[in-house]
Amino acid sequence: MTALVDQLRAIVGQEACLSRPEELFVYECDGLTLDPSLPSIVVLPKTTSQVVEIVKACRQHDTPFVPRGAGTGLSGGAHAKSNAVVIETSRMNRIIDVDVENRIARVQPGLVNLHLSKAVSPHGLYYAPDPSSQQVCTIGGNVAENAGGPHTLKYGATTDNVLSVEIVMPDGEVLVLGHESGFGSGYDLVGVVTGSEGTLGIVTEVTVKLLEIPEGIETLLGIFPDVVSACRAVMDIIGSGMVPAALEIIDRRTIEVVEDSVYRAGLPRTAGAVLLAELDGARCALDDQVVRMQQLCRDAGASEVRIAKDSEERDLFWKARKGSFGAMGRLAPDLYVHDAVVPRAQLPGILEQVSEIGERYGLLLANVFHAGDGNLHPIISFDRRDPDELDRVMKAGREILEACLAVGGVLTGEHGVGTEKREFMSLLFSDADLDAMMRLRRCFNPDGCCNPGKVLPVTRACVESNPAARDALLELIP
Ligand SMILES: Cc1cc2nc3c(=O)[nH]c(=O)nc-3n(C[C@H](O)[C@H](O)[C@H](O)COP(=O)(O)OP(=O)(O)OC[C@H]3O[C@@H](n4cnc5c(N)ncnc54)[C@H](O)[C@@H]3O)c2cc1C
Repeated sequence: MTALVDQLRAIVGQEACLSRPEELFVYECDGLTLDPSLPSIVVLPKTTSQVVEIVKACRQHDTPFVPRGAGTGLSGGAHAKSNAVVIETSRMNRIIDVDVENRIARVQPGLVNLHLSKAVSPHGLYYAPDPSSQQVCTIGGNVAENAGGPHTLKYGATTDNVLSVEIVMPDGEVLVLGHESGFGSGYDLVGVVTGSEGTLGIVTEVTVKLLEIPEGIETLLGIFPDVVSACRAVMDIIGSGMVPAALEIIDRRTIEVVEDSVYRAGLPRTAGAVLLAELDGARCALDDQVVRMQQLCRDAGASEVRIAKDSEERDLFWKARKGSFGAMGRLAPDLYVHDAVVPRAQLPGILEQVSEIGERYGLLLANVFHAGDGNLHPIISFDRRDPDELDRVMKAGREILEACLAVGGVLTGEHGVGTEKREFMSLLFSDADLDAMMRLRRCFNPDGCCNPGKVLPVTRACVESNPAARDALLELIP
């Protein structure tokens, strides 16, 4: 390792190559605190050519590497095993170019998501994907996870907002995929890289679409007796033909925690759930939609529908929603945030099941989620130092996922598979599906040295029943 450290220091400089245990400690995990492990080295490049040199040096020393943005991922995608080098992009945080006329921006991957919207706002523009972690997470991490957010309902996830990417392949070759016009020819390789969780290479530049800041925005807070009636309102609103910018549900336990925290926004503690709904667009089209939405909420059981009186109150509501995961830190040292998606009509039934599972296992479970997308985020607060509690958390987590899959859902809406859900992949995909995914990965990352051990299962179904598949998968884990 010393020879590799020396080589990496020669590439990025002494201060951008970390190897002392106390420096590595913060890299032992991402937002998923299960299964922490210290990497051997963390290196912080500034340019694409430094990334190329780092990758080549790692290969020379037969050492795997793991791309990392801000480490806010919730599925362990940026976890590194003890011999791996973490390539962290925080110093690659420049906005390279903003083309106002064509409404696009070219950025380095370590740029913090929110910084892009702030930088282009003087032009009346913004970047639509807005994960709740947007104050810290990076555009590169967003591309790798195909991140979504409250406004995915109307504006799509990251994949709908990325035009092209530059990627350093695991052998050090640099590729530019897609085209800034949005009309890349041939296969949609930008689509393949978006959501690939760092397993195909290291994204070193991203060209994204910018949107015009809407002329009008209205934010409503529907106050409901329970989560089920709030879900019914969501279905009625979508069924009415309206396309809200966001439809988010916050349950009672979350309201209480948020109101006890620095994110308090005056949410009613007596409510069973609140629906945070946003409408945006031409000013003249909004008033009518606001009236219709209020009525639909009342018909579904809302006792009251508040309308944010100004942008400060709107920001306060969103601060409460976006700060809710953080506020949960008040309840227990660890959080397990689930991320399954079900067809929207299944939401009421599945939420009842989720709460039954939480109660049966005696767990502290809350729900705050992108209801408009059918994207559930059951959050379990726990202490991983208690083995019995940890065991119950894992069992409940599996039951929640199985329940979602049983009603036609999928494993992840936006947080990715990482290490967290890779063993669940066989619940959804056949051996042939998994084999096809592995072969795709091998086209980019033939010996698995880039972000090994992520996404594809290593112990279940296809691998147990198919020794050839197992050998091939195990080869991907140096
Ligand atoms: C409080 C909180 C709220 C959240 N809310 C949301 C939400 O609303 N929507 C949502 O989608 N997610 C959300 N997340 C999850 C997380 O913020 C996103 O997945 C985000 O996209 C991760 O970005 P990051 O920069 O932190 O990436 P990291 O966690 O550092 O990495 C995530 C994955 O991307 C890979 N990666 C990172 N950079 C690169 C690169 N340059 N090239 C190739 N691969 C790379 C890593 O290897 C890893 O697999 C939330 C997380 C938290 C803690």
